[in-house]
Amino acid sequence: MSAEKILQNSPSRSLNPLEVFLRDCIRKHGAMDFATFMDHALCHPQWGYYVTRDPLGQAGDFTTAPEISQMFGEIIGAWVVDVWHKLGQPEKVYLLEVGPGRGTLMSDLLRVASQIPEFASAVHVLMLEASPVLRGKQREVLKAYRAEWLDASVDAPDDAPIIIIGNEFLDTVPMHQVILDKDGQWSQKVVTEDQNGQLLFGWEAIPTELAGFVPRHAKNDEIYEISPKQIEHMKDWASLVLRKGGAVLQIDYGHALTQSGVFLHAIRDHKHIDVLDNVGSADITCNVDFEPLMRVSRKMGLQCVPVVTQGDYLKKLGIELRAKVLSQKDPDSVEAALRRLVDAEQMGTLFKVFCCYHGLSAPPEGF
Ligand code: SAH
Repeated sequence: MSAEKILQNSPSRSLNPLEVFLRDCIRKHGAMDFATFMDHALCHPQWGYYVTRDPLGQAGDFTTAPEISQMFGEIIGAWVVDVWHKLGQPEKVYLLEVGPGRGTLMSDLLRVASQIPEFASAVHVLMLEASPVLRGKQREVLKAYRAEWLDASVDAPDDAPIIIIGNEFLDTVPMHQVILDKDGQWSQKVVTEDQNGQLLFGWEAIPTELAGFVPRHAKNDEIYEISPKQIEHMKDWASLVLRKGGAVLQIDYGHALTQSGVFLHAIRDHKHIDVLDNVGSADITCNVDFEPLMRVSRKMGLQCVPVVTQGDYLKKLGIELRAKVLSQKDPDSVEAALRRLVDAEQMGTLFKVFCCYHGLSAPPEGF
């Protein structure tokens, strides 16, 4: 039998329960837009990637900055204390972390920041986490602190200023891929099925509700990744900060200004894989476009500092000094972690730091 015949006659891989669910949705409602697909793949309450596992670390699928070194959380701890000072050292302040993973960033941050007794008694920790597995880990590492888990950012109480932080949260927020054709028509990536019931990508005209989110100065035949959902999060955070003052700090890989290109990728076991391969078993992430987030923050009345690289931010806040202190015990691994966090060819340039604020006596440090 020819190779072609063998391939034609071979049965397809059977679908996992999440893929069966997606295929059934597509059969019922037609092609699914990519953002809805991404939402199910990552956060489906039964089979979503984040809901069913702890994906972090060497044994997981990817490693994040707080998991590389305690220095990352410690530096952000010092930054948070500076913001609290610039808020006039209020007796109560909320500190909300969105997408806190294993709680490592928050626990490193609080260990440093709690050395200021007035801050330690002022701070109320709030966490927004979709994964029950990770919520469990966060509870464990934050046992010593007053912490509360929210179902949505907007549930944060409004009786005190709020500082909102997140590392690699926005890149997990569902996004759409859109493309502009020569006739000025926008299409978006959708998920459909082939004759064998396997999931497959296609393109369809965008619905009117997406038209307000496409880039203003787009080039023909180039793909743009847009996320109304990220903007919704930003609006929620801006409205919280506008109530009694505070700041938003988001660190993620991405770009300061809108760029075309396919940044979307899936990661399993620290390797890039096909986005449709065994859906729900791999992380799906995109680069964050900070331009529309800054635009909406400004429009709502927040002040924004320019987006900077993670390397510059951490160095300005003294990570090299902290590394020197920690090096006394284990110089090689501290140096390696420092290089990984700040060097341009590692995480230093690809990762960006976005910050906006309201009610501070001076702009936050690090920019
Ligand atoms: N900040 C952590 C983890 C980054 S991974 C770190 O740097 O190590 C993304 C995190 O966002 C995970 O904790 C994931 O469970 C969480 N997450 C993803 N989608 C979410 C959602 N819709 N709501 C709340 N948390 C979410």
